[in-house]
Amino acid sequence: MQSSKAVIMALFSEDQTQETNRRGRIEIICGSMFSGKTEELIRRLKRAKFAKQKVEIFKPTVDSRYSQCDVVSHDKNYINSTPVDSSSSILLLASDVDVVGIDEAQFFDLGIVDVCNELANMGIRVIVAGLDMDFKGTPFGPIPHLCAIADEVSKVHAICVKCGQLALYSHRTVNCNKQVLLGETERYEPLCRKCYLKALKQQNTLKEA
Ligand SMILES: [Zn+2]
Repeated sequence: MQSSKAVIMALFSEDQTQETNRRGRIEIICGSMFSGKTEELIRRLKRAKFAKQKVEIFKPTVDSRYSQCDVVSHDKNYINSTPVDSSSSILLLASDVDVVGIDEAQFFDLGIVDVCNELANMGIRVIVAGLDMDFKGTPFGPIPHLCAIADEVSKVHAICVKCGQLALYSHRTVNCNKQVLLGETERYEPLCRKCYLKALKQQNTLKEA
């Protein structure tokens, strides 16, 4: 049996060689809201910085929840970032770096897939964080495509607020059908599959009543 340390190392790619030998690769950190995606992205990027690597971080301009120029996690941990309008801008801005971080990647256009491949082919380590599913449980934007082309995918989980199991859904607690509801993190709750289905059922019963 693998030791728990070995499992953690595999999950969070603690492989030393990645940080010392420059090698192009794509890492995806995906999961529901409140699963710690951004925290994990920041952790990996900070480690690369400590290793004196040149790091550049991008996020889509649509995500202005906390700050225009920083990647900020829910617990207010942050790292400086550049907001960009489209995925193609990343290629223009990411010259001469060792590591590229991309946060809230679900909001980018599908072009982000080719951009990540191009960066990795140039020898850059690309670390992407994003929501894998929207509030309806549908794969979100380019994330499934990015998972397909990635060298490594880490699916992180929140904790279900109803039962304490691992949560994979971001359940929306208000009645709104738009896919994107920005700046409204308090209107979501992480739920496990069982509790998510139960919540949907209850909502449908309320609608019909
Ligand atoms: Zn649950």
